[in-house]
Amino acid sequence: MARHRRGALMWTMTMLTLPTFDDVIAASMRLEGHAHRTPVLRSRTADERLGAQVFFKCENFQRMGAFKFRGAFNALSRFTAAQKQAGVITFSSGNHAQAIALSARMLGIPATILMPLDAPQAKIDATRGYGGEVIQFDRFKQDREALTRELAEQRGLTLIPPYDHPDVMAGQGTAAKELFEEVGELDHLFVCLGGGGLLSGSALSARALSPRCKVYGVEPEAGNDGQQSFRSGKIVNIPTPKTIADGAQTQHLGEYTFGVIQRDVDDIHTATDAQLVQAMRFFAERMKMVVEPTGCLGFAAAAQAGALIRGKRVGVIISGGNVDLRRFAGFIAD
Ligand SMILES: *Cc1c(COP(=O)(O)O)cnc(C)c1O
Repeated sequence: MARHRRGALMWTMTMLTLPTFDDVIAASMRLEGHAHRTPVLRSRTADERLGAQVFFKCENFQRMGAFKFRGAFNALSRFTAAQKQAGVITFSSGNHAQAIALSARMLGIPATILMPLDAPQAKIDATRGYGGEVIQFDRFKQDREALTRELAEQRGLTLIPPYDHPDVMAGQGTAAKELFEEVGELDHLFVCLGGGGLLSGSALSARALSPRCKVYGVEPEAGNDGQQSFRSGKIVNIPTPKTIADGAQTQHLGEYTFGVIQRDVDDIHTATDAQLVQAMRFFAERMKMVVEPTGCLGFAAAAQAGALIRGKRVGVIISGGNVDLRRFAGFIAD
C-alpha cells in the first residue's frame, strides 16, 4: 500500500525539509545528561498473552512524566541567544505545556503557555509550578492559533508547537533510538499517535537502526484522522474526538509529521477506550506502573494484533504516565 503514495510524497518533500535520522542523533546528544534514559521493561505475562517477545520502552518514567520532554528540550536547545532572551510560546493543555515549561526553566528561557479556560486545574498548576506563564483563553470564542501568533509577534516570542516541528520530531525520535540500541532489531513497533511527533521520530530511528521493522501508529478509534490520512494520501481533519486518550485528541496530523509518516510508517491501527482501560489495568496490576490512557494505545493495539505478531520481537512505546489519581482510580475500579 505504501508504494502507491510515492507521488504525493514527492510533492510533500519538495515543499518541506523533513528531519532525518542525523537530526535524531544530534537531538540525543543535546538531551544527554538532561533527559532520562528510560528503562525497557519486559513482562512474562505480556509475552504469553501476545505470543510474542514484547519490549516496553517506558516514557512514563521520563522527566515530567512523558516523552514530550525530549522534543521540547531539543527544540529550545537550538534557540539563538536572542530567541532565548525573548522567550518561547506554545499552546497546549497537556504534556507539551509542562515539557516546554520545564525545559525553558532548565535553559533559562521565559515560557508563555496558552491554555483553555476549562483546562484541568492540576495541569495549570503543574505548568505554573515549572515556572511557565499561563495565559488562559476561551476555546469556544477565541482562535487559539491566531491568539498565539498575535502574542508571539507582540512579544517577539518563538513558537514551538506540540508536534509539527522538525526539532520536536527529532527529539521525540530519541526514545525509539534508545530502544533499538538497547534491544537490537525488532519485527514490529507500536507507537501512540496524536499529531504524529512521536510516530514520525520513531519511524526515522526504525528506518536507520532496524530497517525491516514494521512501524505502526495507534490512534483512538473515535479519532482515526491519522488512519484516514494515511490511507487517502492527504491530511484529513476531524472534529475533536471523544475519547479517554486526552493526549491523542488531535484533529489532524501536521505537514512535517505526515510527510515522514507517509514515507516511513507501515500502517495505522486503532484502539477503543475499553481496550485502553484493559491495558491500563494490565500495567497497574502486572507491571506496577501508572500509565495514562493515551500511553496505553500502543499496547492496546499490540494485544489485538493476533497472528501479525505471533512469535515476533515487538516494541511498544509507553508514551506517558500523567493521569489524575482520582481519574486513574475510576478506570482501574470495577
Ligand atoms: C502528546 C502525547 C501523545 C501523542 O504524541 P504526538 O507526537 O502528538 O503524536 C501520546 N501520548 C502522550 C502521553 C502524549 O503526551
